[in-house]
Amino acid sequence: MVMQSINPASGELLAEFETWDQETLDYVITQAGYMYEDWAKLTPIEDRCTLIGRVADVLRDDLDLLAELITLEMGKSINEARAEVEKCAWVCEFYAEHGPAFLADEVIETGASKSYVAYLPLGVVLAVMPWNFPFWQVFRFAAPALIAGNVALLKHASNVPQCALAIEEVFRKAGLPEGTFSTLMIGSSQVESVIRHPAVKAVSLTGSEAAGRKVASIAGEELKKAVLELGGSDPFIVLDDANMTLAVEGAVAGRFMNMGQSCIASKRFIVDQFQANEFIEKFKEAVEAKFVAGDPMDPRTTLAPMARQDLLDELHDQVMRSVELGAKIVTGGYQLDREGCYYAPTILTDVTSNMPAYNEEFFGPVAIVLKASEPAHALGIANSVDFGLSGSIWTSDMATAETMARGMESGATFVNSISFSDPRMPFGGVKNSGYGRELSVQGIREFTNVKSIWIK
Ligand code: NDP
Repeated sequence: MVMQSINPASGELLAEFETWDQETLDYVITQAGYMYEDWAKLTPIEDRCTLIGRVADVLRDDLDLLAELITLEMGKSINEARAEVEKCAWVCEFYAEHGPAFLADEVIETGASKSYVAYLPLGVVLAVMPWNFPFWQVFRFAAPALIAGNVALLKHASNVPQCALAIEEVFRKAGLPEGTFSTLMIGSSQVESVIRHPAVKAVSLTGSEAAGRKVASIAGEELKKAVLELGGSDPFIVLDDANMTLAVEGAVAGRFMNMGQSCIASKRFIVDQFQANEFIEKFKEAVEAKFVAGDPMDPRTTLAPMARQDLLDELHDQVMRSVELGAKIVTGGYQLDREGCYYAPTILTDVTSNMPAYNEEFFGPVAIVLKASEPAHALGIANSVDFGLSGSIWTSDMATAETMARGMESGATFVNSISFSDPRMPFGGVKNSGYGRELSVQGIREFTNVKSIWIK
């Protein structure tokens, strides 16, 4: 099989890579298993932190080149690519600073002469990662996993092989020993053999629900730990007392950042019925004024391409199937008549519960507006889908906001802000958005053996 790196802005084939045969794959996994012994047992956590701190330095030193590679290979605007690399440096620094405290032994008084909890590494951990934030998704997994003493294998999305290799090179340049972080040049059909390999102890996947179900079922059969960060259809609730200007600004940023290709993008705009017309009008105006298609390498470009033509086709099909069932297009709804995978920023209204726009994740620049009669109704709509990643509430009534935040079936809720990931706060979902947490103290402990030690 061949992996192709294609520039989504032009369709140009940038590079091709042969996937590995089974022998090469087995060899690299076995080497990772040997390396684990050195990394976990002979390299003190302070030294691991120093090395991950150096990873941050390499990311900053090479920021321009790495950001350009991201933009070339998956199409996001160069400004967003630069911010992504910068954020990767932050997560490395965060765990280099706080990792030792997060993993320090915790004394528990039990009546024993000594009893405590130790956070010990698990071994080789496989990361199956997506293309939408081709650096961030990897680093937010790798920085804590490596500091905890695990060794990492990366199976990256097949459309970002150059990013996958560049990430491995970042770790090498920072001085991590060969084999502590390895990129596997394999397709998704080879993932099963990696999970089943005896040296591999756990798997982390960020991606679609379908991929999550498949990986989790193999991990389940093998009784290996899995963390899943899957899709979302995040609600963005606008109550009648919301600041409309802020809400509209948030809606534009929350839906169209990364061209809508984000698991925690705001996807369903659930607006108080008496504010809805004003919201739709201002949202439409703001979207039409802001987005102009251009070369994503140009920092002035506001409308970048989507990552792949098949993803654009799938999104457009979801829009059209919803329109056939009665949804109305307020703006957009078509692929731009130019080279590259550019989709017009789209707003859909008149959406009902039998439509793809209501039930499915829209992984691209399409906003869905729904109306609610009161806060409880809005929360009911928010919770009526199978996803539960994040969501936001826009209001000036903080008491109502907090009650609703706790009632929202999601891994996070933001009030008067769009959702974002932050190394200091846990990140993950409930329902079909997955399980387990990344980031923060919870994230670094996911791939550890939380061990009780009790001495009479
Ligand atoms: P996938 O979920 O198919 O890809 C994500 C990763 O999983 C890739 O590395 C992929 O490898 C791998 N993968 C896919 N299928 C399997 C499998 N059966 N077994 C093992 N690994 C697998 O995402 P797509 O690129 O196809 O995007 C489709 C949809 O996924 C989007 O529309 C969106 O809904 C969702 N998605 C969600 C993301 C998130 O952040 N939560 C990120 C990206 C996508 P390969 O590339 O080789 O197929």
